[in-house]
Parts: sequence; C-alpha cells; structure tokens
Amino acid sequence: MSTSDKSDDDLPAQWSHEPHHHLEFRSGDKVVDIDPDATPGFTGSKRDAPELQAERNTRFAGLQEMLYAGSRAGDTRSLLLVLQGMDTAGKGGIVKHVVGAGNPQGIRYASFGKPTEEELAHHYLWRIRKALPPAGHIGVFDRSHYEDVLIVRVHNLVPPDVWEARYDEINAFEKELVDSGTKIVKVAMFVSLDEQKRRLAERLDRPDKFWKYNPGDIDERLLWPQYQEAYQAMLDRTSTDYAPWHIVPCNRKWYSRLAILELLIEALKEFDLSWPPADFDVEAEKRRLASA
Ligand code: AMP
Ligand code: MG
Repeated sequence: MSTSDKSDDDLPAQWSHEPHHHLEFRSGDKVVDIDPDATPGFTGSKRDAPELQAERNTRFAGLQEMLYAGSRAGDTRSLLLVLQGMDTAGKGGIVKHVVGAGNPQGIRYASFGKPTEEELAHHYLWRIRKALPPAGHIGVFDRSHYEDVLIVRVHNLVPPDVWEARYDEINAFEKELVDSGTKIVKVAMFVSLDEQKRRLAERLDRPDKFWKYNPGDIDERLLWPQYQEAYQAMLDRTSTDYAPWHIVPCNRKWYSRLAILELLIEALKEFDLSWPPADFDVEAEKRRLASA
C-alpha cells in the first residue's frame, strides 16, 4: 500500500486477491465445512486492521457520495447489502462500523424481525419491497427476505410447500431488482457455536449489552444443525450469477468488517462512477459570483 505506484483505487496489499474471489459461494461448498476463525485472502494481521479500516472507510465514503451525487443527476442505480447471520454474528457491527462510515443521507437501513400483524397479512416480500434503496442509495438489510426460508423453515411457520416455493420466488424477485439497476451484495455471516456462546455470555454480563440479548436466542442456538441445513439450502438455491452469496467467517470481527467493507468497495467500483458534470456554465457562474 505504501508503494508509490499504487493509487488509492488499488486493493490494499494485505489482500491477496479481491475478497469476492475468496468469499463467493461456489456450488458444492458446505456450510458444515466453514471455518469461522478463518481470514480468507487476508495476508496482514489484526494489528493492521484499525488503520486499514479507517483508510478503506474513507474510500467507501467517497464512492458512496459519488453514487448519491450521480442520482441527483438522474442515475437511477443503487446498491443493496443483504446481511444474514445467526445472533451475534456481527450484523450490527457491520452496520455501525462499515456502512456507518457513509453519509446517512444516502443510506437506507432496514432491519427485519418477527413480522408484525400487518406484515403477516401481506405477502412476505411486501415489507421488503417497501425498504428497498431509492436511486443513488445504499440499502442495508439487517436480516432480510431470507428469514422467510431460514427461521420460517426451521420452525415450520408455514407449510413446507409454501417455504419451498420461496427459493425460486426470491430468485425472480432479485432478478427483477438487478434488472432495474440495483446491485445486490449478499453476505452470509458465520460465527462458531463456541464464539456465539462467548458473545451471548458477554451480553449477559454487560448492562450496556442487555438490549441486544433476547432469551429466544438460546432457543435458536439449540437448533444449530437445523439452521445449518437451512443456510445450506439457501446458499445452494439462491446463489445466482446476478446475485451470488458471499460466505464471511465472523469469529474475528476485524476480519469480517474489513472483508465486507472491501466487498462494498468492489461493488461500487463496478458501477464505474464519476462526478456528474456541472449543468451550468462554471466560468460564467464564477464571474457572476465575483460581482455579486
Ligand atoms: P434481531 O435481529 O436480533 O432483532 O432478531 C430478530 C428475530 O426476528 C430473529 O430471531 C429473526 O429470526 C426473527 N425474524 C425475522 N424475520 C422473520 C420472519 N419473517 N418470520 C419469523 N421470524 C422472523
Ligand atoms: Mg438478536
């Protein structure tokens, strides 16, 4: 990174390839084989993380602003980050420390918990559609429509033939989004059962973390194998060429944050953004201002 022939546009030296090469789900990948302690593609160390993250947060913020600026000039594209993971995987930390580096003006955040009565009265994509990012925005889904094939499948909240039909339906829904100019970055965050226990214990030890704790988290934790199966089906059936899943190991928060930050930067760079040109005569305006 310190080599002078690299522009800030380049991937930091600590990454051996763009993270998506390491993290993209490939047909045949097995959830049971994921090592949540791993740091795929990262050759640096934890000590590099604070500085690197600050630097890449700035890069991300610059691109985000350019996306937003473009929309003011008529560009209708947007980005949607989908975060899925079990409790304590670190979804909130991504929102706070990664997306939080951006300008709130261009961020559309939505979290999806247990549906309200009103939401239940509608199709499961109803609340999702309402939360999609407008033109120029980055949308962040803290949980998503995938809950409707995860917790819903694990607990059989609807009959099997109903959740079964959702995989294809979700693919069609995402295809429609991509075709209308929304780039989708899907991230499945994996924390180990041991690490989850440690993080839940910390929540119970710290009054400033009680708000994140939910007694139901333990019930879901006891269904880990069923969740692994549901996550496997989700990855197998909804990782498409237009909206692939990324598998991010999350036992090391510094790694998961750097990796997801880099996935966002990569996606924004693919937009090939530029600052919108002035729609006024700059020189004439300078002259007018000088004598105003
Ligand atoms: P949290 O993200 O910690 O606030 O927890 C939200 C809870 O709501 C999680 O247990 C989710 O699995 C659950 N949830 C989210 N979406 C749905 C859904 N469509 N049906 C049932 N439960 C859901
Ligand atoms: Mg929770």
